[in-house]
Amino acid sequence: MITGKNYLGNKQLDKGTKTYKTFNPLLNIENEFVFVEATSEEIDEAVHLASEAFKVFRTISGEKKAAFLNAIADEILALNDELIQTYCKESGLPEGRAKGERGRTVFQLRSFADLVKEGSWVEASIDTAQPNREPLPKPDLRKLLIPLGPVVVFGASNFPLAYSTAGGDTAAALAAGCPVIVKSHPMHAGTGELVASAIIKAAEKTDMPNGVFSNLNSSGVEVGTQLVKHPEVKAVGFTGSLRGGRALYDLASQREEPIPVFAEMGSINPVIMLPNALKNRAEDLAKTYAGSIILGTGQFCTKPGLLLAIKSDALTQFISILSKEIVKIEPTCMLHPNIIGAYENNKSKMISQAGLSVVSDFENDVQTNYAKQAITTVEGQTFLENTNLHQEVFGPFSMVVQCQDKEQLELIISKLEGQLTGTLIADNEASEYPGLISALQNRVGRIIYNGVPTGVEVCPSMVHGGPYPASTDSRFTAVGINSIKRWVRPFSYQDWPNELLPDELKNENPLGISRLVDNKQTNDSI
Ligand code: NAP
Repeated sequence: MITGKNYLGNKQLDKGTKTYKTFNPLLNIENEFVFVEATSEEIDEAVHLASEAFKVFRTISGEKKAAFLNAIADEILALNDELIQTYCKESGLPEGRAKGERGRTVFQLRSFADLVKEGSWVEASIDTAQPNREPLPKPDLRKLLIPLGPVVVFGASNFPLAYSTAGGDTAAALAAGCPVIVKSHPMHAGTGELVASAIIKAAEKTDMPNGVFSNLNSSGVEVGTQLVKHPEVKAVGFTGSLRGGRALYDLASQREEPIPVFAEMGSINPVIMLPNALKNRAEDLAKTYAGSIILGTGQFCTKPGLLLAIKSDALTQFISILSKEIVKIEPTCMLHPNIIGAYENNKSKMISQAGLSVVSDFENDVQTNYAKQAITTVEGQTFLENTNLHQEVFGPFSMVVQCQDKEQLELIISKLEGQLTGTLIADNEASEYPGLISALQNRVGRIIYNGVPTGVEVCPSMVHGGPYPASTDSRFTAVGINSIKRWVRPFSYQDWPNELLPDELKNENPLGISRLVDNKQTNDSI
């Protein structure tokens, strides 16, 4: 049941006076639930509880953490229809999407459970002592990854489950041994509270310390600001706008003790269509890309917002078919009036840029909160000279850049801001473009061959991140089990007594994990 209260560890509180409601964009009405924003004292208490919980949680075995993560997954599934209905009411997204995202959330939690239960993820490495080494003896050194401390998570508006309360950031941080305080996203606070209740139930059932998880309501920047500034908070996870992510990053670096902010922000996901591919498959490509641009009303961080090619008849044909195909698709609802407001605003700002032509804009009237899709085109030189054209328009909007030649195409790629993905569409011609591929690799976190960038597989080899501003730290992924690395730091023991070492580093290797012992990867004991 949704109460509108905050979770401060296992306790529910609503001492504040600032309230707000979520919104059903499909019906264009407010939802019935009333949420109470966390007070400054409640924020303090949640962080303090997390700090206390960390003392215990950081030492809990992988097996116990796995039981906790699996219990969260079970409790989320047990929320059943109430969760699905609330998700739909607060996002305007269809039931199929809600169920798919729930499946992904549960899969992520169980993947982290498997990872920490197996245990080798701590990257244990041992260099045994050489007491007789000349001229100096070598000490015994043993290293592993340890958790950073309490983590604040800002969930994404466009993924109310998989990137929010119990989404990738939370699952990874808990798996690492970090307590989590979620700054609930105001657009789906009810979905957030239900998921928070599942996490709290799971924590109680598996005997986790009180404070290992808190969920704080807010509908403005104050709660998030106080959390990021709080001295007991040690790291931040964020998914959302460049403006929001950058503000939090700056705040965190201005603290007396700066902390890392792992923010996943905007991306226009360039798609490069090479000449043979365009000549052979202009129609198929146009149809495929029309679907990809409009998928989820263009509200995916991997939406193809920029299509690049060298001028040709085939490119003209591609633009013409894409323009026709995209308006055949019925417009759909965006997540919230604010998001559609931002879409309309950014779209008109973009369209007002000199040299940009609109080749397709949905002309019929649409229901309130539904987005009209648009395709635009621009000359390569104009694009190069105006960086306003390089910005993201979050929604069903894309731009085709018509380049003069191969050299201009390569130059444009090298001038792009950092991106999550880059796609190459090619028919047996990619080997003729090594410079272009190299320039693309330098600008993105994931490169796709003959596909669409929408769709992010959750698996160890996925990289969901990229050079700034796609993310604040391109060395890490926000998706897949390797995202755990954001919430840990390496730590060494020197000449430490065997019985006082953590199990991961003991001579006997009681956990049977894979370790680097004297430069050899092995599961053996010493
Ligand atoms: P957002 O405005 O960046 O907000 C995300 C979260 O961060 C919210 O909980 C927000 O709190 C908080 N926040 C933002 N700025 C803050 C600040 N200066 N200090 C403290 N907290 C702050 O993103 P959104 O609400 O999800 O969507 C708005 C726009 O972001 C969209 O229109 C779209 O352009 C972009 N977006 C992009 C992606 C992507 O993947 N590229 C994904 C989602 C959204 P409050 O709301 O309570 O202020």
